[in-house]
Amino acid sequence: MRRMPDRGAEPEARRSARRPAEEGERAGRSLAAVAAWLRASAVGSAREAAAILEAQALLVEDAGLHAEVEQRIRAGRTAERAVFEAFARYAARMTSLGGVFAERAADLRDLSRRVVAHLAGEEEGAPGDVLPGYVLVARDLAPADLAMLSAGALLAIVTCEGGPTSHTAVVARERGIPAVVAVRDALALADGTPVVVDADAGEVRVGEAADGARSPAAPAPAGAAAGPSRPASAPSGAAASAPPAPGALADGTPVALLANLGSPGELGAVLAGGAEGIGLLRTELLFPDASSAPGVAEQRAAYGRVFAALPGRRVVVRVLDAGADKPLAFLSPRAEPNPALGLRGLRALRAHEPVLRDQLAAIALAASDHAARVAAMAPLVATVEEARYFVALAHEAGVAEAGIMIEVPAAALLADRMLAVADFASIGTNDLAQYALAADRTLGALAELQDPWQPAVLRLVAEACEAGVRGGRPVGVCGEAAADPLLAVVLVGLGATSLSMAPPALADVRRVLARHDLPDARRLAEIALAAEDARAAREAVRGAAEQGPRLVR
Ligand code: PEP
Ligand code: MG
Repeated sequence: MRRMPDRGAEPEARRSARRPAEEGERAGRSLAAVAAWLRASAVGSAREAAAILEAQALLVEDAGLHAEVEQRIRAGRTAERAVFEAFARYAARMTSLGGVFAERAADLRDLSRRVVAHLAGEEEGAPGDVLPGYVLVARDLAPADLAMLSAGALLAIVTCEGGPTSHTAVVARERGIPAVVAVRDALALADGTPVVVDADAGEVRVGEAADGARSPAAPAPAGAAAGPSRPASAPSGAAASAPPAPGALADGTPVALLANLGSPGELGAVLAGGAEGIGLLRTELLFPDASSAPGVAEQRAAYGRVFAALPGRRVVVRVLDAGADKPLAFLSPRAEPNPALGLRGLRALRAHEPVLRDQLAAIALAASDHAARVAAMAPLVATVEEARYFVALAHEAGVAEAGIMIEVPAAALLADRMLAVADFASIGTNDLAQYALAADRTLGALAELQDPWQPAVLRLVAEACEAGVRGGRPVGVCGEAAADPLLAVVLVGLGATSLSMAPPALADVRRVLARHDLPDARRLAEIALAAEDARAAREAVRGAAEQGPRLVR
């Protein structure tokens, strides 16, 4: 392992020898440079990382913060000290608010260090650039650092600070980098000490032969794992096909483990991960640049490539989910004041019914060409009438099974009636959280509201799953929530019959599910539902299920 040196000491509290106007200009230049650097880092970063970096750029540009810096400069401070104090004051306010706000304080401290370093003439650089093939141990690693690290060079991350919802943890999870956060005494390790980071067990094992990231062969209690336990270089792309590995709880209760797919190029990872099928084929990602609707033949071929790789396995094809953060030129209106609340998903398709009919025809034709068990699914269904409309059209086109996504609270609340017309439902927790908490999913600043651990979201999930049990219809989850191993147990406890996720998450979810039987999953679900907020739910369930992160010597 390698320790990342703490960046920059606290600037001295002395009177500046420069004129305030000059110090003000220096501070302004460095604040602007750091904001520009964060924006540049956001370009090319994965979705969640990009949103976080964008939000951090906005924070650095915050007018209130600038006013605090200027006020201190007018009082005779150096630009360095003024920035340090102003950011520290903001961070203290965040800390006093507690919970997830307190975790954001770490972001502020990092941003302050960056601006001060820029004032001192230091260049930005990613720690991983100079640390190939090591476990990185840091007091707290900023998302900006993490976003720039090359996954191949970095085996795993251990931090002393931060919580499971810290942005570092979020970005690590998204990047597939194993991480254990909040290991209080990690910085006591000497550089070069070999460690094994077992994110699944929340353990950093000291003194094993070489640095690495490991998935335990035997079940171990999960800790404050922030990322997957497998190495970041785990099989992907054109990896060899593995037989599907059915998911199950410890008592044998089956939980179908499926993959989310956005392009046929990810099929290798799906097969290598042992997915039992595809729970969400995001077809809008297959034709992102199309200026007109793709023809039936083109679509038939595209879906056929996926079906051909999965004979006998289930493939749920979601019809085009255009609009909001995924606009398609031929379906999305040019300008809407609130696109997430606008003509998106099934609404957009209904306004262009020939496009929907063509797509359903192509799905049915491709299904007849191959042996996959194909179903079609509609996004953003809000009313029972919409569900009935879609199911009728799908069956008419020759698609055997037609389901709906539950992404709008209205659909969850009326799930029993929805499932009286639809063959199955799949809960999209990304949008369900967005609409339940009124928190735009594209804004990093609202990440804590956009958290599927929010008890309000879980209650809606419970409502939908219970309707499925009563009506004898399968109800799965295909939002990001399914990829969080502990939350996956909670979802099954709430009644989810399948979980669909990004392929890298499959192994961890499978392993953690196998540690809990159904009564235990139900107990954990009750604990989550009874919590006050997302953080409390996560911590209470973790406490009830396992032990915290630790160094094992
Ligand atoms: C969801 O909303 O949870 C979902 C799976 O759909 P998407 O993320 O594609 O909107
Ligand atoms: Mg959605």
